[in-house]
Amino acid sequence: MLTGSGYPLIVLEDCVRCGVCCFSESERHARVTGDDYARLGDDAERLVAFIGNQAFMRIERAGEASPVGRCAALVLAPDEGTYLCSVYERRPEVCRTLERGSSACAGERATKGDRPRRALTLVR
Ligand code: SF4
Ligand code: SF4
Repeated sequence: MLTGSGYPLIVLEDCVRCGVCCFSESERHARVTGDDYARLGDDAERLVAFIGNQAFMRIERAGEASPVGRCAALVLAPDEGTYLCSVYERRPEVCRTLERGSSACAGERATKGDRPRRALTLVR
């Protein structure tokens, strides 16, 4: 069944109970532009990593050998089962454009859907 927008009608979890699009193994997961960096203010140095002259949100792993990487700004709450962006109001533009329920969101969930729960298990 499709919605009026053409996307399949599915029941989506709230983003705080999903978190999938904040997980990645790639160090180039979320690009940080100059404006994004400025908006992050005092948190920029801690949360942003440079590869050459390009900036990205830093990827954190549960351990060096962990296959599960996540944005350093993502806060996991194992007891509540939630994933919160600690800089939500100041997050980079690339995060703002990924709309919940869009085809990009569906792609993220289809390819990386199991990672958030695995990560919660690792930090428990
Ligand atoms: S935008 Fe989509 S993939 Fe990202 S947290 Fe929300 S529901 Fe999950
Ligand atoms: S900045 Fe926030 S929304 Fe963007 S990837 Fe990191 S935790 Fe997710």
